[in-house]
Amino acid sequence: MEATIVILEGDGIGPEVTAEARKILTAVADRFGHTIEFDHQMIGGRSIDELGTSLPDETVEAAARAEAVLLGAVGGPKWDDPGMPDRPERGVLALRKSLDLFANLRPVKLQPQLLSASTIKEETLEGVDLLVVRELTGGIYFGSRKEADDNFEAYDTMVYTRPEIERVVRLAADSAMERNRRLASVDKANVLASSRLWRSVATETLSDFPELEVEHILVDAMAMHLIRRPADFDVIVAGNLFGDILTDEASMLAGSMGMLPSASLGDISNRHELPLGLFEPIHGSAPDIAGQGIANPLAAILSCAMLLRHSLGLEEEAAAVESAVDSVLAEGVRTPDIAQPGSETTGTEVMGDLVAQALKAA
Ligand code: NAD
Repeated sequence: MEATIVILEGDGIGPEVTAEARKILTAVADRFGHTIEFDHQMIGGRSIDELGTSLPDETVEAAARAEAVLLGAVGGPKWDDPGMPDRPERGVLALRKSLDLFANLRPVKLQPQLLSASTIKEETLEGVDLLVVRELTGGIYFGSRKEADDNFEAYDTMVYTRPEIERVVRLAADSAMERNRRLASVDKANVLASSRLWRSVATETLSDFPELEVEHILVDAMAMHLIRRPADFDVIVAGNLFGDILTDEASMLAGSMGMLPSASLGDISNRHELPLGLFEPIHGSAPDIAGQGIANPLAAILSCAMLLRHSLGLEEEAAAVESAVDSVLAEGVRTPDIAQPGSETTGTEVMGDLVAQALKAA
């Protein structure tokens, strides 16, 4: 297989973790006989500094031509001034929108060796293996709004249409069919009109999937269930705002932001007739540890596994990356964020090298 992957290093620890991710994709290409070309493009804060925009046209064009996009993270205190005309995050939002990436997939699978890294009791976490699917291009983040220019009244509007709900629920249902066939659809149908539409379209769409065990859960109850009985869930689908909050909550089950990958997918196909996707760790640019060589690259590396699976259709290669990560963790190798206090730790580059070695040796 031949593929082009656009790499957007971004800011802070972005360049550090994407360097390790690239190493892993190269190791996959070597081991399985694929040709992967890397096309490095600009996004975020450094792009504002050097090119005057958080998302150059060239980046969008390169992404649209590629098989997939791998992003590090953007942002940092240097660009936090609210008076700035452009912001690093705007580049990522605009890229997702321009590629119509309407579904954000965040798997939360707990490594047995890392149960103690979470703040939740180990017995509650046993068996947690869930996938949160968040709608990404609609809802309250995109509805009409009024700023409080009078310092008195402001509003945001949550708008959903039938096609927007149907396509993300269908994608979540397809994922559940490939997993443990359970799907929880989240809404606030007891209060919100847009949620009542969500529930009715979800119910209708899911009638095409009689093999699935389906629950409709109110978002406030879901927030509680995720902490009390997270192992009971398989796939969870939610609108943009509810999904944003629940994905962060779910990520905390795993203990560290440095472990969790994500994929944003849409309907646009790449050259191989697979969905073009944007793959990125869920964490941000971590300015507090940037440049120290201690960032955990595993979220970026596991994002490569999602990239191989979803945008290149390479399931065996994706599984090989995941088991290489498992084997390195099983040997007790830890970056500081997942280490027990006082125990020995390793840096970003060594962690990447060890995963690449495990991949080659398997
Ligand atoms: P963050 O995820 O960058 O960091 C939160 C905490 O987790 C920090 O203590 C950090 O050191 C730690 N951490 C994060 N990733 C880690 C890793 N791989 N290894 C070890 N520790 C890790 O969140 P924040 O501090 O709220 O945000 C920092 C910047 O990142 C902000 O400018 C924010 O806007 C931006 N951000 C960008 C994205 C994105 O690019 N998609 C997402 C979230 C936040």
